Amino acid sequence: MATGMMFPDFDEVHPLARGPFVALANELHYLWSKGLIPVWFRPFEIYRTPQRQVEMLRTGKSKAGPWSSAHQYGLAVDFVPYIRGSWSWTVPLTTWDHLREQAHKVGLLNDIEWDRAHVEHPAFAKLRAALQPKVSAVPNAAHLSEQPPKVRG
Ligand SMILES: [Zn+2]
Repeated sequence: MATGMMFPDFDEVHPLARGPFVALANELHYLWSKGLIPVWFRPFEIYRTPQRQVEMLRTGKSKAGPWSSAHQYGLAVDFVPYIRGSWSWTVPLTTWDHLREQAHKVGLLNDIEWDRAHVEHPAFAKLRAALQPKVSAVPNAAHLSEQPPKVRG
């Protein structure tokens, strides 16, 4: 296991969720440095403002609106292969599977098929559920669905 603070911007991650993300980043670097996985998955984006989330929704880069992404809560990090000085999303699925395997080992989620870089803390699902409006609490909203919107990213 690598040691030291190689990724100082992890202070953008929620303090109570920081441990597994730092462990994942360090393990991914270690495995790559030893030739055990083919690419170096580096943290590409961590905290994302709601304003930037609006822009990403508009431009089709995300399917989540403002305050609907774990990135707005410091509970997601996108890990992207960094190859010879450039970010690359176009690696084989079997390469992305290494990120998934390592994320799961530290208790993080990496299960969105159209967003393989997205690694999310499981606390976000609970937070999102808690923030869903209750139909009974919203006047004249009995017609609204109780199903939460299916947005991630
Ligand atoms: Zn993401």
